[in-house]
Formats: sequence, C-alpha cells, structure tokens
Amino acid sequence: MTEQKATNITWHEHVISQDELEKLHGHKGCTIWCTGLSGSGKSTIANAVAARLYEMKASTFVLDGDNIRHGLNKNLGFSPEDRVENIRRIGEVAKLFTSAGVVNLTAFISPYAADRKIARDLQPQSFVEVYCYADLSVCETRDPKGLYKKARAGELKNFTGIDAPYEAPENAELVVDTGKLSVPECVDEIIKVLRKRGVIG
Ligand code: ADP
Repeated sequence: MTEQKATNITWHEHVISQDELEKLHGHKGCTIWCTGLSGSGKSTIANAVAARLYEMKASTFVLDGDNIRHGLNKNLGFSPEDRVENIRRIGEVAKLFTSAGVVNLTAFISPYAADRKIARDLQPQSFVEVYCYADLSVCETRDPKGLYKKARAGELKNFTGIDAPYEAPENAELVVDTGKLSVPECVDEIIKVLRKRGVIG
C-alpha cells in the first residue's frame, strides 16, 4: 500500500453525484481494463470499443500506456517497482473517470496480478477486466512497435514475455483471443458484457 504523506486534508463530497452524472451521460461509469502482452491488441481494442460506444453516443476515454508515460507517469520506468506505481496511478485515474460517469478503457500490459487486483479493488463493482490474449509468437510476429525485435537483440531489458514475467489473469470478466477473432468480433464481445452488466442499455 502506498503511504499517505499529506496530513490535514479533508475529503469533499461532490455536489453533483456520480449517479447524476451517469443520468446525464445516459449510461454508467465503468473501467474496461485491458491487459495482455505487448502487441496483443489492447490499444487497438480499447480504441475500437471507444469508437463503437461513441457511435452509440456514450462518453468514453481511453487511457493508453505510452500516452500516460509521456505525462502523468513520465518519471516511471519499467523496473518492477515503477511498474507497480504506474498501475497504481492508472487505477486511481480510472476510478476518477468512473466517478465522472465515463466508460474508461485502459490499455496497459499490467503484467502483475497483484497490481490488477489493486486497480480492481478500488472499484470492484465497476471493473471489467479484459484479457487480450494472443500467443507470444503471434505478438512477436505482429511486433507493431518493433519492441520484440529490440528485446530479442538485447537492446531492451525487462520486456514482458521475453525477460520479464506476465501473470495471466485467472478471473478476468472476459478473454478475447485476438489471434483468432477479428477486431469487430472482440468489440462485440466487450459490448455484450457491458450490456449484461447494465453499463449501457
Ligand atoms: P498492444 O496495445 O497490446 O501493445 P496494439 O493494439 O498496439 O497492441 O497492436 C496490436 C496489433 O495487432 C495491431 O497492429 C492490430 O492491428 C493487430 N491485430 C490483429 N488482429 C487483432 C485483433 N483481433 N485485436 C487487436 N489487434 C489485432
């Protein structure tokens, strides 16, 4: 657990509640937490789901790994402790978006089960874990950012799946096999879960 440093701070209740904001948006807030190896399709799927929801006039926001590392988390690297802090902060940000009644989608490798649990435990009722699964060989063949090539050449250390571990989810709400399903099919699966949970009508 991260230590509370500041003292003399008071929690202020919002004047406009989450409930009211959700009524305004016409759907519930929720976090769709995409986890999986690099190249497994997290960003592609998160953005495709956001696009589908946008067509349905839902309010969405994608929290994407590399983008967050350009700003909020620019002081964090890929050591185990930095990865923990990376996910802790994202978990908190995701919860804020949920409180704002927004369907937020995260696209982080988030390789450690314990860290994903921390993010889940922040908002257990509104957390949908989606395991974007593809064989390492599939991810490596895709290699959209050329990172596997660098990792295999030893130019990139601590790369998940090569010389850093990935702990596959055991109780994800959904597993999408991106090696077998098309992007629209993966999106369909996620939309189904959102309907089933009453996030969208
Ligand atoms: P990640 O965010 O997990 O690192 P990306 O979304 O950046 O992965 O890259 C995944 C690559 O795989 C993209 O080039 C995408 O077009 C391709 N791809 C092929 N089929 C799928 C699928 N069913 N779902 C997601 N991505 C897919």
